[in-house]
Amino acid sequence: MFKKVFILSAALALGMLSCKKSPEEAETTSSGYQGQGKSPIVPTVDKPIQKQWRGVWAFNDSTTFFSNQFDGARLNGVAYDGDDHYTIWVTAENTPINVSPWYGFKVWSTEARDIKVELKYQDSRSRYYPKISTDGRTFKPLDSIYFKPINPGEGEFGLGAAPESAELTISVTENPTWITAQELYTSSVVQEWVDSLSQKPFIENYPIGLSKEKRTMKVMEINENKEAKKALMIISRQHPPEVTGFIVMKSFIETITGDSDLAKAFRQEHVVFNVPLMNPDGADNGHWRHNMGGIDLNRDWQNFNQPETRNVRDFLVEKDKDYDFVFGADFHSTWDDIYYPIDTTATGEKGKIIFDWIENISERLPQKQTNVRASDDIENTMVSSKYFYVHHGMPAIVFELGDNTSRAFLKEKGKVAAEEIMKLLLEK
Ligand SMILES: [Zn+2]
Repeated sequence: MFKKVFILSAALALGMLSCKKSPEEAETTSSGYQGQGKSPIVPTVDKPIQKQWRGVWAFNDSTTFFSNQFDGARLNGVAYDGDDHYTIWVTAENTPINVSPWYGFKVWSTEARDIKVELKYQDSRSRYYPKISTDGRTFKPLDSIYFKPINPGEGEFGLGAAPESAELTISVTENPTWITAQELYTSSVVQEWVDSLSQKPFIENYPIGLSKEKRTMKVMEINENKEAKKALMIISRQHPPEVTGFIVMKSFIETITGDSDLAKAFRQEHVVFNVPLMNPDGADNGHWRHNMGGIDLNRDWQNFNQPETRNVRDFLVEKDKDYDFVFGADFHSTWDDIYYPIDTTATGEKGKIIFDWIENISERLPQKQTNVRASDDIENTMVSSKYFYVHHGMPAIVFELGDNTSRAFLKEKGKVAAEEIMKLLLEK
Protein backbone atom coordinates (compact mmCIF):
# COMPACT_ATOMS: atom_id res chain seq x y z
CA MET A 1 0.00 0.00 0.00
CA PHE A 2 2.65 2.51 1.02
CA LYS A 3 4.78 1.44 -1.87
CA LYS A 4 1.96 2.15 -4.30
CA VAL A 5 1.44 5.61 -2.85
CA PHE A 6 5.13 6.30 -3.16
CA ILE A 7 5.27 5.16 -6.77
CA LEU A 8 2.30 7.31 -7.68
CA SER A 9 3.68 10.45 -6.09
CA ALA A 10 7.12 9.77 -7.56
CA ALA A 11 5.52 9.42 -10.99
CA LEU A 12 3.68 12.68 -10.51
CA ALA A 13 6.87 14.41 -9.43
CA LEU A 14 8.72 13.00 -12.45
CA GLY A 15 5.95 14.14 -14.71
CA MET A 16 6.30 17.66 -13.46
CA LEU A 17 10.07 17.55 -13.74
CA SER A 18 10.02 16.35 -17.31
CA CYS A 19 7.43 18.97 -18.14
CA LYS A 20 9.98 21.61 -17.15
CA LYS A 21 12.57 20.04 -19.40
CA SER A 22 10.47 19.80 -22.54
CA PRO A 23 11.93 21.45 -25.65
CA GLU A 24 9.48 24.33 -25.47
CA GLU A 25 10.51 25.06 -21.91
CA ALA A 26 14.23 24.51 -22.12
CA GLU A 27 15.94 26.44 -19.39
CA THR A 28 17.37 29.74 -20.48
CA THR A 29 20.08 32.11 -19.46
CA SER A 30 21.18 35.40 -20.95
CA SER A 31 23.22 33.39 -23.47
CA GLY A 32 20.13 31.58 -24.72
CA TYR A 33 18.83 28.03 -24.64
CA GLN A 34 20.54 25.43 -22.52
CA GLY A 35 18.74 22.46 -24.05
CA GLN A 36 17.00 19.42 -22.70
CA GLY A 37 18.01 17.16 -19.86
CA LYS A 38 17.20 13.45 -19.52
CA SER A 39 13.53 12.73 -19.98
CA PRO A 40 11.80 10.49 -17.46
CA ILE A 41 8.66 8.81 -18.78
CA VAL A 42 5.53 10.90 -18.27
CA PRO A 43 2.20 9.12 -17.74
CA THR A 44 -0.07 9.64 -20.77
CA VAL A 45 -3.32 7.97 -19.72
CA ASP A 46 -6.35 10.24 -20.12
CA LYS A 47 -6.79 13.21 -17.83
CA PRO A 48 -10.01 15.21 -17.56
CA ILE A 49 -10.22 18.41 -19.54
CA GLN A 50 -12.72 21.22 -19.39
CA LYS A 51 -14.27 22.15 -22.71
CA GLN A 52 -14.82 25.87 -23.03
CA TRP A 53 -18.36 27.15 -22.95
CA ARG A 54 -19.18 28.44 -26.42
CA GLY A 55 -21.49 31.34 -27.02
CA VAL A 56 -21.89 35.09 -27.36
CA TRP A 57 -21.32 37.61 -24.57
CA ALA A 58 -23.43 40.78 -24.87
CA PHE A 59 -22.56 44.06 -23.09
CA ASN A 60 -23.41 47.71 -22.94
CA ASP A 61 -27.18 47.34 -23.45
CA SER A 62 -26.48 44.65 -26.01
CA THR A 63 -24.48 46.87 -28.30
CA THR A 64 -21.07 45.16 -27.99
CA PHE A 65 -20.54 41.43 -28.45
CA PHE A 66 -17.78 38.86 -27.98
CA SER A 67 -17.97 35.36 -29.40
CA ASN A 68 -15.97 32.14 -29.35
CA GLN A 69 -18.29 30.32 -31.73
CA PHE A 70 -15.75 29.30 -34.35
CA ASP A 71 -13.09 26.63 -34.73
CA GLY A 72 -9.84 27.64 -33.12
CA ALA A 73 -11.51 30.08 -30.72
CA ARG A 74 -10.55 30.30 -27.08
CA LEU A 75 -12.32 32.74 -24.79
CA ASN A 76 -13.20 31.59 -21.31
CA GLY A 77 -14.77 34.68 -19.79
CA VAL A 78 -15.43 38.38 -20.39
CA ALA A 79 -16.22 41.18 -17.94
CA TYR A 80 -17.21 44.75 -18.73
CA ASP A 81 -15.23 47.17 -16.58
CA GLY A 82 -17.02 50.33 -17.78
CA ASP A 83 -15.80 53.03 -20.18
CA ASP A 84 -15.47 50.65 -23.14
CA HIS A 85 -12.90 48.59 -21.21
CA TYR A 86 -13.18 44.79 -21.04
CA THR A 87 -11.28 42.04 -19.24
CA ILE A 88 -10.89 38.70 -20.99
CA TRP A 89 -9.88 35.45 -19.31
CA VAL A 90 -7.92 32.81 -21.12
CA THR A 91 -7.64 29.48 -19.33
CA ALA A 92 -6.06 26.13 -20.22
CA GLU A 93 -7.88 22.90 -21.04
CA ASN A 94 -6.31 21.33 -17.95
CA THR A 95 -3.23 21.68 -15.77
CA PRO A 96 -0.32 21.25 -15.31
CA ILE A 97 0.44 22.43 -18.81
CA ASN A 98 3.19 24.07 -20.81
CA VAL A 99 2.43 27.78 -20.95
CA SER A 100 1.21 28.38 -24.47
CA PRO A 101 -1.84 30.53 -23.69
CA TRP A 102 -3.79 30.35 -26.91
CA TYR A 103 -6.69 32.80 -27.31
CA GLY A 104 -9.10 33.59 -30.11
CA PHE A 105 -12.33 35.56 -30.19
CA LYS A 106 -14.56 37.71 -32.36
CA VAL A 107 -15.83 41.13 -31.30
CA TRP A 108 -18.32 43.54 -32.89
CA SER A 109 -20.55 46.45 -31.94
CA THR A 110 -23.73 47.94 -33.32
CA GLU A 111 -21.99 51.33 -33.15
CA ALA A 112 -18.42 51.77 -34.37
CA ARG A 113 -16.20 52.54 -31.37
CA ASP A 114 -12.71 51.96 -29.93
CA ILE A 115 -12.67 49.51 -27.07
CA LYS A 116 -9.88 48.38 -24.81
CA VAL A 117 -9.50 44.70 -24.02
CA GLU A 118 -7.19 43.37 -21.32
CA LEU A 119 -6.05 39.76 -21.71
CA LYS A 120 -5.58 37.80 -18.50
CA TYR A 121 -4.13 34.31 -18.41
CA GLN A 122 -4.31 31.34 -16.11
CA ASP A 123 -0.84 30.83 -14.61
CA SER A 124 0.87 32.36 -17.58
CA ARG A 125 2.18 35.59 -18.96
CA SER A 126 1.33 37.11 -22.34
CA ARG A 127 3.23 34.83 -24.71
CA TYR A 128 1.55 35.48 -28.06
CA TYR A 129 1.48 38.84 -29.78
CA PRO A 130 -2.11 39.36 -31.03
CA LYS A 131 -3.08 38.84 -34.68
CA ILE A 132 -6.06 40.64 -36.17
CA SER A 133 -8.40 39.79 -39.05
CA THR A 134 -11.62 41.08 -40.56
CA ASP A 135 -12.50 37.83 -42.34
CA GLY A 136 -11.18 35.10 -40.03
CA ARG A 137 -8.77 33.93 -42.73
CA THR A 138 -6.18 36.60 -43.35
CA PHE A 139 -4.38 37.74 -40.22
CA LYS A 140 -1.71 40.32 -39.50
CA PRO A 141 -0.05 41.40 -36.26
CA LEU A 142 -2.00 44.07 -34.38
CA ASP A 143 -0.42 47.48 -34.99
CA SER A 144 1.96 48.12 -32.10
CA ILE A 145 0.29 51.44 -31.29
CA TYR A 146 -2.76 49.39 -30.23
CA PHE A 147 -0.75 47.02 -28.01
CA LYS A 148 0.11 48.01 -24.46
CA PRO A 149 2.17 45.50 -22.45
CA ILE A 150 1.32 45.47 -18.77
CA ASN A 151 4.16 44.78 -16.35
CA PRO A 152 6.75 43.95 -19.06
CA GLY A 153 9.07 41.01 -18.46
CA GLU A 154 12.83 40.83 -18.23
CA GLY A 155 15.47 39.27 -20.47
CA GLU A 156 15.17 38.06 -24.03
CA PHE A 157 13.86 34.50 -23.89
CA GLY A 158 11.09 32.56 -22.32
CA LEU A 159 8.01 33.38 -20.37
CA GLY A 160 9.83 35.71 -17.98
CA ALA A 161 10.55 38.02 -20.89
CA ALA A 162 6.86 38.30 -21.80
CA PRO A 163 4.61 40.95 -20.28
CA GLU A 164 2.32 39.83 -17.48
CA SER A 165 -0.72 40.79 -19.51
CA ALA A 166 -1.61 43.07 -22.39
CA GLU A 167 -4.18 45.71 -23.20
CA LEU A 168 -5.32 45.90 -26.80
CA THR A 169 -7.19 48.74 -28.44
CA ILE A 170 -9.61 47.46 -31.05
CA SER A 171 -11.69 49.57 -33.44
CA VAL A 172 -14.89 47.58 -33.52
CA THR A 173 -17.65 47.92 -36.07
CA GLU A 174 -20.81 46.00 -36.83
CA ASN A 175 -18.66 43.55 -38.80
CA PRO A 176 -16.72 41.13 -36.62
CA THR A 177 -13.03 41.57 -35.90
CA TRP A 178 -11.07 38.40 -35.09
CA ILE A 179 -8.30 38.56 -32.50
CA THR A 180 -6.16 35.44 -32.14
CA ALA A 181 -2.84 34.39 -30.61
CA GLN A 182 -1.47 33.29 -34.01
CA GLU A 183 -2.88 32.90 -37.50
CA LEU A 184 -5.80 30.43 -37.59
CA TYR A 185 -4.94 27.05 -39.09
CA THR A 186 -7.89 24.91 -37.99
CA SER A 187 -8.59 21.40 -39.24
CA SER A 188 -10.68 22.71 -42.14
CA VAL A 189 -8.07 25.29 -43.19
CA VAL A 190 -5.33 22.64 -43.10
CA GLN A 191 -7.51 20.25 -45.10
CA GLU A 192 -8.13 22.94 -47.74
CA TRP A 193 -4.38 23.25 -48.15
CA VAL A 194 -3.97 19.45 -48.37
CA ASP A 195 -6.80 19.20 -50.91
CA SER A 196 -5.35 21.98 -53.05
CA LEU A 197 -1.93 20.28 -53.17
CA SER A 198 -3.62 16.96 -53.88
CA GLN A 199 -4.72 18.37 -57.26
CA LYS A 200 -1.27 17.37 -58.44
CA PRO A 201 -1.32 13.94 -60.05
CA PHE A 202 1.36 12.50 -57.76
CA ILE A 203 -0.26 13.59 -54.46
CA GLU A 204 -3.13 12.00 -52.63
CA ASN A 205 -4.49 12.18 -49.12
CA TYR A 206 -6.40 9.59 -47.15
CA PRO A 207 -7.60 8.86 -43.60
CA ILE A 208 -5.40 7.04 -41.10
CA GLY A 209 -7.85 6.97 -38.21
CA LEU A 210 -9.90 9.13 -35.90
CA SER A 211 -8.86 11.55 -33.19
CA LYS A 212 -10.24 11.31 -29.68
CA GLU A 213 -13.16 13.55 -30.64
CA LYS A 214 -13.67 11.59 -33.87
CA ARG A 215 -12.12 14.01 -36.32
CA THR A 216 -10.59 12.23 -39.29
CA MET A 217 -6.81 12.30 -39.28
CA LYS A 218 -5.26 12.35 -42.72
CA VAL A 219 -1.91 11.69 -44.27
CA MET A 220 -0.77 13.32 -47.48
CA GLU A 221 1.31 11.03 -49.68
CA ILE A 222 3.67 12.50 -52.26
CA ASN A 223 4.48 9.60 -54.53
CA GLU A 224 5.51 10.20 -58.12
CA ASN A 225 7.44 7.01 -58.85
CA LYS A 226 5.80 3.82 -57.61
CA GLU A 227 9.21 2.13 -57.75
CA ALA A 228 10.68 4.54 -55.18
CA LYS A 229 11.55 2.79 -51.94
CA LYS A 230 12.96 5.55 -49.76
CA ALA A 231 10.53 7.48 -47.57
CA LEU A 232 10.33 10.58 -45.37
CA MET A 233 7.93 11.12 -42.47
CA ILE A 234 6.95 14.72 -41.77
CA ILE A 235 4.54 15.78 -39.03
CA SER A 236 3.47 18.97 -37.24
CA ARG A 237 0.98 20.53 -34.82
CA GLN A 238 1.08 18.00 -32.01
CA HIS A 239 0.79 21.25 -30.06
CA PRO A 240 -2.05 23.32 -31.51
CA PRO A 241 -0.71 26.88 -30.99
CA GLU A 242 2.58 26.08 -32.71
CA VAL A 243 1.59 27.68 -35.97
CA THR A 244 5.03 28.96 -36.97
CA GLY A 245 6.26 25.35 -37.09
CA PHE A 246 3.34 24.55 -39.36
CA ILE A 247 4.14 27.51 -41.65
CA VAL A 248 7.70 26.21 -42.17
CA MET A 249 6.46 22.65 -42.69
CA LYS A 250 3.96 23.90 -45.27
CA SER A 251 6.69 25.66 -47.22
CA PHE A 252 8.94 22.57 -46.86
CA ILE A 253 6.25 20.34 -48.37
CA GLU A 254 5.36 22.85 -51.11
CA THR A 255 9.03 22.98 -52.13
CA ILE A 256 9.28 19.18 -52.36
CA THR A 257 6.12 19.09 -54.46
CA GLY A 258 7.32 21.98 -56.66
CA ASP A 259 8.48 22.14 -60.26
CA SER A 260 12.23 22.56 -59.73
CA ASP A 261 14.59 20.04 -61.32
CA LEU A 262 15.82 19.18 -57.85
CA ALA A 263 12.30 18.36 -56.60
CA LYS A 264 11.52 16.33 -59.71
CA ALA A 265 14.71 14.30 -59.36
CA PHE A 266 14.08 13.85 -55.66
CA ARG A 267 10.57 12.52 -56.23
CA GLN A 268 11.91 9.85 -58.57
CA GLU A 269 13.61 8.21 -55.59
CA HIS A 270 11.63 9.34 -52.56
CA VAL A 271 8.10 9.15 -51.23
CA VAL A 272 6.97 11.67 -48.59
CA PHE A 273 4.32 11.00 -45.97
CA ASN A 274 2.98 14.09 -44.22
CA VAL A 275 0.59 14.38 -41.26
CA PRO A 276 0.27 18.17 -41.11
CA LEU A 277 -2.16 18.28 -38.19
CA MET A 278 -1.42 15.73 -35.49
CA ASN A 279 -3.86 17.25 -33.01
CA PRO A 280 -7.00 18.34 -34.91
CA ASP A 281 -9.19 18.34 -31.78
CA GLY A 282 -6.77 20.59 -29.97
CA ALA A 283 -6.58 22.99 -32.92
CA ASP A 284 -10.35 23.29 -33.32
CA ASN A 285 -11.01 23.54 -29.58
CA GLY A 286 -8.40 26.24 -29.10
CA HIS A 287 -6.27 24.13 -26.75
CA TRP A 288 -3.04 25.43 -25.29
CA ARG A 289 -1.23 22.14 -25.84
CA HIS A 290 -3.07 18.88 -25.16
CA ASN A 291 -5.41 16.62 -27.10
CA MET A 292 -8.95 15.80 -25.96
CA GLY A 293 -7.47 13.12 -23.71
CA GLY A 294 -5.84 15.98 -21.80
CA ILE A 295 -2.38 14.72 -22.80
CA ASP A 296 0.70 16.21 -24.42
CA LEU A 297 0.90 13.98 -27.50
CA ASN A 298 4.63 14.49 -27.75
CA ARG A 299 5.06 12.45 -24.58
CA ASP A 300 3.00 9.51 -25.85
CA TRP A 301 5.35 7.89 -28.38
CA GLN A 302 6.46 5.38 -25.77
CA ASN A 303 3.17 4.13 -24.32
CA PHE A 304 0.69 5.11 -27.07
CA ASN A 305 -2.31 5.74 -24.87
CA GLN A 306 -3.82 8.31 -27.26
CA PRO A 307 -5.52 7.60 -30.62
CA GLU A 308 -3.62 10.33 -32.50
CA THR A 309 -0.20 8.85 -31.77
CA ARG A 310 -1.50 5.29 -32.24
CA ASN A 311 -2.84 6.16 -35.70
CA VAL A 312 0.55 7.38 -36.85
CA ARG A 313 2.37 4.49 -35.16
CA ASP A 314 0.18 1.93 -36.96
CA PHE A 315 0.59 3.76 -40.25
CA LEU A 316 4.37 3.76 -39.91
CA VAL A 317 4.54 0.09 -38.95
CA GLU A 318 2.55 -0.74 -42.08
CA LYS A 319 4.62 1.47 -44.42
CA ASP A 320 7.90 0.26 -42.95
CA LYS A 321 7.24 -3.09 -44.64
CA ASP A 322 7.51 -1.44 -48.08
CA TYR A 323 9.81 1.53 -47.52
CA ASP A 324 13.18 2.40 -46.09
CA PHE A 325 12.61 5.53 -43.98
CA VAL A 326 15.54 7.88 -44.49
CA PHE A 327 14.44 11.08 -42.75
CA GLY A 328 11.87 12.26 -40.21
CA ALA A 329 10.95 15.72 -38.96
CA ASP A 330 8.44 17.03 -36.46
CA PHE A 331 7.78 20.78 -36.65
CA HIS A 332 7.08 22.83 -33.50
CA SER A 333 7.28 26.38 -32.19
CA THR A 334 8.86 27.92 -29.15
CA TRP A 335 10.50 31.17 -28.06
CA ASP A 336 13.10 31.15 -30.82
CA ASP A 337 14.30 29.00 -33.72
CA ILE A 338 16.03 25.89 -32.38
CA TYR A 339 16.94 22.39 -33.61
CA TYR A 340 16.69 19.29 -31.44
CA PRO A 341 18.57 16.53 -33.28
CA ILE A 342 19.65 13.22 -31.75
CA ASP A 343 23.37 13.25 -31.06
CA THR A 344 25.61 11.15 -33.31
CA THR A 345 27.02 9.53 -30.16
CA ALA A 346 23.65 7.74 -30.16
CA THR A 347 22.96 7.46 -33.89
CA GLY A 348 26.48 7.06 -35.29
CA GLU A 349 27.22 7.71 -38.97
CA LYS A 350 23.57 7.32 -39.86
CA GLY A 351 22.51 10.40 -37.94
CA LYS A 352 25.21 12.62 -39.42
CA ILE A 353 22.99 13.72 -42.29
CA ILE A 354 20.90 15.77 -39.85
CA PHE A 355 23.96 17.75 -38.75
CA ASP A 356 25.14 18.25 -42.34
CA TRP A 357 21.67 19.48 -43.16
CA ILE A 358 21.61 21.96 -40.27
CA GLU A 359 25.01 23.26 -41.36
CA ASN A 360 23.87 23.70 -44.96
CA ILE A 361 20.71 25.54 -43.91
CA SER A 362 22.73 27.80 -41.62
CA GLU A 363 25.18 28.62 -44.44
CA ARG A 364 22.35 29.70 -46.70
CA LEU A 365 20.51 31.65 -44.00
CA PRO A 366 23.29 33.46 -42.15
CA GLN A 367 20.94 36.30 -41.16
CA LYS A 368 19.44 34.22 -38.39
CA GLN A 369 21.56 31.99 -36.21
CA THR A 370 19.68 28.92 -34.99
CA ASN A 371 20.46 27.16 -31.75
CA VAL A 372 21.28 23.44 -31.93
CA ARG A 373 20.74 21.26 -28.89
CA ALA A 374 21.48 17.61 -29.53
CA SER A 375 20.22 14.97 -27.15
CA ASP A 376 22.00 11.63 -26.65
CA ASP A 377 19.20 10.24 -24.51
CA ILE A 378 17.26 7.57 -26.39
CA GLU A 379 16.41 5.48 -23.33
CA ASN A 380 12.75 6.11 -23.98
CA THR A 381 10.91 7.27 -27.08
CA MET A 382 8.31 9.57 -25.51
CA VAL A 383 8.90 12.19 -28.19
CA SER A 384 8.21 11.54 -31.88
CA SER A 385 11.72 12.07 -33.22
CA LYS A 386 13.15 9.42 -30.90
CA TYR A 387 10.38 6.98 -31.81
CA PHE A 388 11.10 7.62 -35.50
CA TYR A 389 14.77 6.85 -34.99
CA VAL A 390 14.59 3.95 -32.54
CA HIS A 391 11.71 2.04 -34.18
CA HIS A 392 12.08 2.96 -37.84
CA GLY A 393 15.77 3.77 -38.11
CA MET A 394 15.23 7.21 -39.60
CA PRO A 395 17.49 10.13 -38.72
CA ALA A 396 14.98 12.52 -37.20
CA ILE A 397 14.70 15.98 -35.72
CA VAL A 398 12.42 18.25 -33.76
CA PHE A 399 12.45 21.46 -35.77
CA GLU A 400 11.38 24.44 -33.64
CA LEU A 401 10.54 27.90 -34.92
CA GLY A 402 10.16 31.08 -32.92
CA ASP A 403 6.65 32.32 -32.16
CA ASN A 404 7.60 35.73 -33.54
CA THR A 405 9.98 34.78 -36.34
CA SER A 406 9.03 36.81 -39.41
CA ARG A 407 6.58 34.95 -41.62
CA ALA A 408 8.58 35.74 -44.75
CA PHE A 409 11.66 34.22 -43.14
CA LEU A 410 9.68 31.15 -42.06
CA LYS A 411 8.65 30.56 -45.65
CA GLU A 412 12.21 30.96 -46.86
CA LYS A 413 13.51 28.65 -44.14
CA GLY A 414 11.03 25.92 -45.10
CA LYS A 415 12.12 26.22 -48.72
CA VAL A 416 15.84 26.15 -47.95
CA ALA A 417 15.38 23.25 -45.49
CA ALA A 418 13.58 21.24 -48.18
CA GLU A 419 16.17 22.01 -50.87
CA GLU A 420 19.08 21.07 -48.62
CA ILE A 421 17.59 17.77 -47.43
CA MET A 422 16.70 16.84 -51.02
CA LYS A 423 20.31 17.50 -52.11
CA LEU A 424 21.78 15.49 -49.23
CA LEU A 425 19.44 12.55 -49.70
CA LEU A 426 20.09 12.47 -53.44
CA GLU A 427 23.87 12.40 -52.81
CA LYS A 428 23.53 9.28 -50.67
ZN1 LIG B 1 5.74 21.71 -29.45
